[in-house]
Amino acid sequence: MDYAPIRISADLPPLRVNLYSDTQTKPTAAMKAAMMEAEVGDEQFGLDPTVNALCDKMAALMGKEAAVFLPSGTMCNQVAILTHCRPGDEILAHETAHILTSEGGGAAALTGAQITGLAGPNGMFDAAALRASIRPKSRYAPPQTLMEVEQTANTGGGAVWPVAVLDELAAIAHANGMATHMDGARLMNAVVQSGVSASDMVAGYDSVWLDFTKGLGAPLGAVLCGTKEFIGRAWRWKQRVGGSMRQAGICAAACIHALDHHIDRLAEDHANAKKLAGGISQIPGLKAEVPQTNLVFFDTSGAGITATELADRARLHGVAFSTTGAHRVRACTHLDVTAPQIDEALSVLRQVVAG
Ligand SMILES: *Cc1c(COP(=O)(O)O)cnc(C)c1O
Repeated sequence: MDYAPIRISADLPPLRVNLYSDTQTKPTAAMKAAMMEAEVGDEQFGLDPTVNALCDKMAALMGKEAAVFLPSGTMCNQVAILTHCRPGDEILAHETAHILTSEGGGAAALTGAQITGLAGPNGMFDAAALRASIRPKSRYAPPQTLMEVEQTANTGGGAVWPVAVLDELAAIAHANGMATHMDGARLMNAVVQSGVSASDMVAGYDSVWLDFTKGLGAPLGAVLCGTKEFIGRAWRWKQRVGGSMRQAGICAAACIHALDHHIDRLAEDHANAKKLAGGISQIPGLKAEVPQTNLVFFDTSGAGITATELADRARLHGVAFSTTGAHRVRACTHLDVTAPQIDEALSVLRQVVAG
């Protein structure tokens, strides 16, 4: 059985425009230079000065007491769930949330927690949906101990949760005895799009993490933030799941470089996404959702082809897309995609749809 998410064939022409995912960025020369120069030490012992500097920087950025460096965003979510929840607990999240759809059943497998998926447009749910999902406390009901949101909502089209909604949901969750967790894989895209500071945006959330391997362009790493007490307990899970590292400063240096140089430029990715969506909507048979950040979703039904057919044909012309449904294609802009490449992708899409 082949579980690989992307089919790779040696016969394919070279990739000219990679809209597959913002996870596929390569470190820039300046980022690599920062990595080469990093001062390092034993991260497990708290002795890597570059990792410590990254964690201090992130705690300050998020307005939290403490932070911990982990190899991936998925590990941030799983360590956070392990730290917040006990076996038998229930987590409330959107039905399209990454923790529910894309982490191999980790909450069930590792913590023994179940996730209930809430409905709502664009990967977001509102106060009414949250209230409706809160069960009266009884010995029958699973303890509801965690509410989770994803900023930006990935399969929700890269949509940005307004800070007022985030605050309202957090207040309801806290009033009902739940902790709050934010999957901030693309949090800085939301910050740049909305102009709201990261610390204001996450103020209602007990834990939050940022991924450095999406639009921020680092080769690996994510940082989970929270109170000192929470991060202390998270450290034990980091150790248990094998997320404690050694000279991880090599990678933390790339993350610090990304914080210093790759945040403001996310606006370019958002502009490229708008341009791409606008161009796609001019192509007969294709319908693009209006993007808020760097993710563009479009529907192929009107062109009489499936998402996979479109992606396969475009790949033969050197342009990569991912698919998220029978007729739903995702294009992702990032620091390795330029404005002229958007024109190139549009011209390939025109050819592909014309047959
Ligand atoms: C990519 C992603 C993750 C997982 O991050 P990795 O670093 O790839 O493990 C989690 N949540 C969302 C919303 C994501 O887009």
